[in-house]
Amino acid sequence: MEETKSPSSSNYIRNIVIDDLAAGRVKEVVTRFPPEPNGYLHIGHAKSICLNFELADEFKGRTHLRFDDTNPVKEDVEFVESIKRDVQWLGFEWEGLFFASDYFDEMYERAVLLIRKGLAYVDDQNADRIRETRGTLTEPGVPSPWRNRSAEENLDLFARMKAGEFKDGEKVLRAKIDMASPNINMRDPVIYRILHAHHHNTGDKWRIYPMYAFAHPLEDAIEGVTHSICTLEFEDQRPFYDWVVRECEMPSVPRQYEFARLNLTNTVMSKRKLKQLVEEGAVDGWDDPRMPTISGLRRKGYTPEAIRSFCRELGVNKGYGVVDERMLEHFIREDLKLKALRTMAVIDPLKVVITNYPEGQTEWLEAENNSENPEMGSRQIPFSREIYIERDDFMENPPAKYFRLFPGNEVRLKNAYFVKCEEVVKDADGNVTEIRCTYDPETKSGTGFTGRKVKGTIHWVDAAHAVPAEFRLYEPLISDGEENEEASFLEKLNPNSLTVLRGFVEPGMKAAAGGDKFQFFRHGYFNVDPKDSAPDRLVFNRIVSLKSSFQL
Ligand code: ATP
Ligand code: MG
Repeated sequence: MEETKSPSSSNYIRNIVIDDLAAGRVKEVVTRFPPEPNGYLHIGHAKSICLNFELADEFKGRTHLRFDDTNPVKEDVEFVESIKRDVQWLGFEWEGLFFASDYFDEMYERAVLLIRKGLAYVDDQNADRIRETRGTLTEPGVPSPWRNRSAEENLDLFARMKAGEFKDGEKVLRAKIDMASPNINMRDPVIYRILHAHHHNTGDKWRIYPMYAFAHPLEDAIEGVTHSICTLEFEDQRPFYDWVVRECEMPSVPRQYEFARLNLTNTVMSKRKLKQLVEEGAVDGWDDPRMPTISGLRRKGYTPEAIRSFCRELGVNKGYGVVDERMLEHFIREDLKLKALRTMAVIDPLKVVITNYPEGQTEWLEAENNSENPEMGSRQIPFSREIYIERDDFMENPPAKYFRLFPGNEVRLKNAYFVKCEEVVKDADGNVTEIRCTYDPETKSGTGFTGRKVKGTIHWVDAAHAVPAEFRLYEPLISDGEENEEASFLEKLNPNSLTVLRGFVEPGMKAAAGGDKFQFFRHGYFNVDPKDSAPDRLVFNRIVSLKSSFQL
């Protein structure tokens, strides 16, 4: 795995925008976010969304949301709706909602213009043959025998392709540029193909569909986009992008700029693979909290603020590389640190009986809501004779330096008293089922007791008032190293990616609703699952644990 530092926040595209405005080359900055509606958006898309919207916002320009729906086979309305929801949730408003398919007529006309100019021809070679004759980095391509068809013949054939006279793959329309170009993308790229497929927007109107590399520059130009920002794989496409805009005589001239695709450690990012996970039932849908989708991150408990801060920190680096997933986690901790209510949850409970505490008595103790943010005030929590503690906060035969509960040891119960372990109760199999302790009334929290010190503080929940809850803890779906071995990617799923535990939370948490976020003492930040949680069945997703060695 590549070692990663946090990328610099420099933004070379921003500098270009500043120059373009200063020189009067651009009056209004227009950017666009152009997803293909063939899946849900992921954190990589968030980088592109933030970049486009924030750049336009800064210079009082506008950003279009454009669905790049030129490939009818993989696209779906469900994806269109989810994409809109995710962009809005991130906090951005588009000015103009477009579908590339709305421009099919104009694209067709522009292709006809190319044919008239002698800059496009219908090729009868099949896809394999076209690939074989494309040449290599060191050898030029071989011109098609159909390359010199007359404009009349090409116009006729192209019209018949449109009319549905030919089968899929029988013919294509190619740009006529230069089969010897050192840039392979300029060796007569295919610009239209035959596809007898139903389109979610245009229905059965079209039998031919434009290729992405041809459609995209036209879409940008038609909308008056000034700065067309895409990922680095498209760098070699830029000469063709400019060729299309120029030769199709588009009145408005967009410019393409590239930035590095976001990759995160331990994260599958391609939509194709994410789709596979969903379709094979390896996850609970696109919004499974283990998914790097925007909807998965939202359900896990990420906030738009955290995602935007993360993207801002990424900047517009041009270098490839893998960003440490812990950098994303850093930003959700930062966002929730002062906002989230800090309470106690016991996720793997062990009953403790405080033998010298009066039976039937309950007292209400004061607990701070956020020790780093006094403005959040405090709450009252019940304490009585029976409580739950974390199973791993007790050990019968502890190693050295174990400061939590063990026979004869005394610890502080957070916000309450010192308790001392007097007795261990076990079942027939020798499993610990209960701990019996005594407490010291002198040691109540907040009373300034200084008589003696204990080394450990543990959390707890009062048994009589405890609210049962489910806790879902996550690990990566697939860990690095394995993910790259394409073939068996689905067989390399981490069997521990989800752990479900049942325990208890404080009574005040009973009213928690989907999307509410908390810090549970020692366990980390949690989100009330918006899908599966109900008033009588609380479900908490762990967003992130409390600490990490990661440094920005
Ligand atoms: P995937 O390979 O995951 O399917 P894509 O690039 O095919 O992604 P699109 O829907 O075509 O997905 O992408 C819409 C926009 O989001 C494009 O401008 C694309 O460059 C950008 N984008 C996609 N993935 C990333 C990423 N990992 N990092 C940054 N930008 C991305
Ligand atoms: Mg794509």
